[in-house]
Amino acid sequence: MKNIAIIGSTGSIGTQTLEIVRENKDLNVVAISAGSNVELLEKQAREFQPDIVGIWDEDKAKQLRVALSDVNIRVVSGMEGLLEIATYHQSEVLVTAIVGMIGIRPTIEAIKAGKDIALANKETLVTAGHIIMPLAKEKGVKILPVDSEHSAIFQCIHGETNMGVDNKISRLLITASGGPFRGRKREELLDVTVEDALKHPNWAMGRKITIDSATLVNKGLEVIEARWLFDIQPENIEVVVQPQSIIHSMVEFEDGSVKAQLGTPDMKLPIQYALYYPERRFLPGDRLDFTKMSGIIIDTPDRETFLGLDFAYKAIAIGGSMPTVFNAANEKAVALFLDKRIKFLQIYDIIDSCMNAHDVIENPNLQEILDTEQWVYNFIDGMNI
Ligand code: NDP
Repeated sequence: MKNIAIIGSTGSIGTQTLEIVRENKDLNVVAISAGSNVELLEKQAREFQPDIVGIWDEDKAKQLRVALSDVNIRVVSGMEGLLEIATYHQSEVLVTAIVGMIGIRPTIEAIKAGKDIALANKETLVTAGHIIMPLAKEKGVKILPVDSEHSAIFQCIHGETNMGVDNKISRLLITASGGPFRGRKREELLDVTVEDALKHPNWAMGRKITIDSATLVNKGLEVIEARWLFDIQPENIEVVVQPQSIIHSMVEFEDGSVKAQLGTPDMKLPIQYALYYPERRFLPGDRLDFTKMSGIIIDTPDRETFLGLDFAYKAIAIGGSMPTVFNAANEKAVALFLDKRIKFLQIYDIIDSCMNAHDVIENPNLQEILDTEQWVYNFIDGMNI
């Protein structure tokens, strides 16, 4: 039996993690948390019977305590509650299915408490990878990627960089679907709506990451995430467009051999792989039928139109607190876009302005990362949008 805790259990990754738990009797959920979706959290608590449930919002926590008063489940709230869920003594693995930089502190505390991390929350590694990866090594905990691209790389390098060998990786090839606006030019993006941007061609995901896919910021975040997860320099990480989302990513070794991981676009595969690594388990669902495929398309990303990738490469090249600025500016800009307060292309303008105005802090500690996030929010507030 493996005991798991989930932060962000009500979201896209969280609910799919629970679907896997539902199918596998040797997985047991001991702690779950969400932001504000009290109805779904109550349902999940009744079905999976964790010991402890966390909700960010204090008023919702009061509501949840009343709703769950007939069962023996403790309800916690706020950051303190989130940290309690992340470090809960009964859990072995923490699934970080929460969205945004709010995941940093719980992830760090969970590592300190010796929990393996099934990491979906990429914003955490983007901003604090230089703290998290050495800490995980020191504590002997595994960082198991859930992001499909990083899981693909992780699957490709299994047996290559562990199990007694250390074969050299020369290149990581991260695949991108290109998002809903692939093929369009800047002028054609001037008036796209939130609804247009939320129509991802292949993946059903949370709202923030879906917008990030449309801007290609998501791919930029993934380049930085890969840099930390696999200790590869950014110049050796390349992005290629694979619109069908069948090749989930590739690894080139120093002898020129390229390994790829393929599959239908289904996040349950990488989630399950992280939970059972290095074992594979049966997963129901569609299988690839190569006889029905008209061809696997590979293309180059349009970096002139979709600026998300260039911002990411610039942020990681400058380093220090700049990836935090890139990420925090994007988080705020996407929230403004989803609120219909800015246009799609203004997401890029906001990121650019923040990155240009920032005085970089070298090797920032956790407090400096959180202060930088706050600096970004204040800077954007000052833009009077
Ligand atoms: P969703 O928006 O679907 O879900 C986010 C989850 O975080 C929800 O459960 C939400 O709760 C919870 N949450 C938000 N704020 C707080 C808070 N303050 N305290 C506690 N919980 C909170 O996001 P996704 O599942 O799409 O993405 C989650 C992470 O995984 C992101 O970092 C994303 O980049 C990454 N990822 C997602 C993929 C996907 O397929 N969806 C693929 C690869 C990576 P509530 O429902 O109450 O708001």
